[in-house]
Amino acid sequence: MHRTFRSILTGSFSTPCADNPTVAMIEAGFQHAGLDARYINCDVKPAHLGEAVRGALAMEWAGFNCSLPHKVAVIEYLDDMAEAARIIGAVNCVSIRNGKLIGDNTDGKGFLASLRTVIDPADKKVFLLGAGGAARAIAVELGLAGAAHITVVNMKKAHADTIANLVRDNTKCNATAHLWEGEARIPADTDIVINATSVGFGNADAMAAVDVETFKKGQVVADVIPNPPMTRFLREAKKRGCTPLDGLGMLVNQGVIGVELWLGKTLDATVMQRTLSDIFNTSDA
Ligand code: NDP
Repeated sequence: MHRTFRSILTGSFSTPCADNPTVAMIEAGFQHAGLDARYINCDVKPAHLGEAVRGALAMEWAGFNCSLPHKVAVIEYLDDMAEAARIIGAVNCVSIRNGKLIGDNTDGKGFLASLRTVIDPADKKVFLLGAGGAARAIAVELGLAGAAHITVVNMKKAHADTIANLVRDNTKCNATAHLWEGEARIPADTDIVINATSVGFGNADAMAAVDVETFKKGQVVADVIPNPPMTRFLREAKKRGCTPLDGLGMLVNQGVIGVELWLGKTLDATVMQRTLSDIFNTSDA
């Protein structure tokens, strides 16, 4: 049998990068699939992003993720962008094909893949809390997936307006923006509720201001927070008969989708999820 000593190279450019567990998750997936591929977690400062991108191209990497603070800055180095990434205006996954750099955004796609394990968003009404980068990617993908209406609620109303406008202008989905004052009340006809704020990250007891009595039995309630996955938001929703969906699935699916784009291979999501759960030390994930 012919043996080759050349590994497929992939990785991530961000700073700071030391707390990002994606490398462990993806390399577990590579190993399980028997792939001789590496995912290299690189600390790249903003001033060196161009050199890092050119380096990946020169070394014939298959692709790389871009995390904070490079998701917008990387766009100037790309040859092309997928539709959703173009609408969102941010790229977190770059594929290198025939020497060309193609930008994609897997934030919303990872969320959608996770959401589809419990509900098809087509024709559904969505209540979206938060209007940062994650909310923006999720709203655009939900719009492209045929959601009927998205209500975007945020403390800084202008950010919610931007997302609602993006969705209305680029998809067939209707969207409205609302100022988040006091406890947000979830409209009774909502099918899917999403916490896309950063509240709950690293704190199992923190919860964004929501009137928990407005969770309704049967609703799908999702959180983007991957750690700890069972946030207070999800626990309160589960208590009231809702179907909870944690942010770990979103993170795992982003990894799966990224590798599909780079290598055309689908890694085992269960193996990757187990790796992350071990790192986050959660048994209920
Ligand atoms: P941003 O900083 O872009 O946005 C944060 C959002 O949270 C803003 O809308 C902000 O409101 C809102 N917010 C912050 N504090 C509060 C509060 N106390 N009450 C209500 N709203 C609040 O962050 P991202 O969108 O990039 O990330 C958000 C979260 O999503 C992070 O915790 C991140 O870890 C997680 N994430 C998870 C992913 C996954 O794969 N599971 C992928 C990407 C992100 P305002 O605009 O008014 O300031």
